[in-house]
Amino acid sequence: MQRLRDSFTFRKSTTLKTAHEEFLKSLPKAELHLHIEGTLTPAQKCAIARRNGIKLPYESEADILAAQNYIGKDAAEYLKNFLAFYNEGMKILRTAQDFRDIALDHLRVCGAENVRYAEISFDPQPHTDRGVAFGAIIEGLRAGIDEAKALGVEAQLIMCINRDMPVDSAFRMLEDSKPYRDRIIGFGLDSLEEGNPPTKFLDLYAKARSEGYRLTAHCDVDQTDAVAHIRDCLDLLKVERIDHGINCVEDERLVDQLLERGVCLTACPTWRPSDTMPRRMDRIRVMHERKLKVTINSDDPGLFASGTLGAMLPAVAAEGRFSEEDLAQLMINAFEGAWLPRERRDAYVEEVRDYLAAWKRARI
Ligand SMILES: [Zn+2]
Repeated sequence: MQRLRDSFTFRKSTTLKTAHEEFLKSLPKAELHLHIEGTLTPAQKCAIARRNGIKLPYESEADILAAQNYIGKDAAEYLKNFLAFYNEGMKILRTAQDFRDIALDHLRVCGAENVRYAEISFDPQPHTDRGVAFGAIIEGLRAGIDEAKALGVEAQLIMCINRDMPVDSAFRMLEDSKPYRDRIIGFGLDSLEEGNPPTKFLDLYAKARSEGYRLTAHCDVDQTDAVAHIRDCLDLLKVERIDHGINCVEDERLVDQLLERGVCLTACPTWRPSDTMPRRMDRIRVMHERKLKVTINSDDPGLFASGTLGAMLPAVAAEGRFSEEDLAQLMINAFEGAWLPRERRDAYVEEVRDYLAAWKRARI
């Protein structure tokens, strides 16, 4: 285990290229695709487990890091291990204070990286199944979000269905959320796509829509029927955003449709310890060139080697051959795709434009 961790450190420090680091540091940023359960670091897991009197199946933080960095013999084994590790990790979350702490800890990092706005996804079903009250999750997360305002960071919540769980359980979640409707902006769909296509959720999305939620859905990368699933999410679930969705570049008509509707796509060029560079950049570059509203996101920053948005952007800029204008545009895409009132979005976009202009002036 020790050897794995050392090789990760070595790879990260010697092979990942970086670009525009100075420019990126203070660039106003937004992130629309981030799972709060995926922000948990080994240190947080140990601290919260200790507080809740839970015995983790690991001896130390180093052991947790080694387990999350375990690559496996192939991609399928990696994914299986990753999800098992992910689900195991969230079991330590029991109280409103746990949820408040992880939200605030993450938003503190956002503050340090000048991530001005974040839409944070959370998965209620695995928590409520363990006996955690829906209200404790929301009260905790919202407390963290409210406290982070003082740091200059604004955030909203997206409630996600675990698509591999029974639809009945998702309907119960929607019912549970009623008293907290005004504290949750969006409704999404994540977890295992294989065998759980968008058509499984038609009635559920119709109900969420009727309750006024903003709608998004994960269309994971290179899944079976990936392009058809994006279409189904747009046409049948009537989402206004797609999480991932980068297989859209395989279908010109779909790209035109996404452009026409101004759909925001939240790409995640995250990388694992075994990768030498950000993944999927070729397709994200094409999306950017086609002027799709594509954004860059960290997805599960506590679990991937790529880390948080601010940490991953220099390598993403290098691998995507993005100029400073391109990077500013990617952030403008995120602010324009944000589920905020028009004037708030415009104000953030203006901030990005002003920053870019001031940066250029300083270098003439
Ligand atoms: Zn995701």
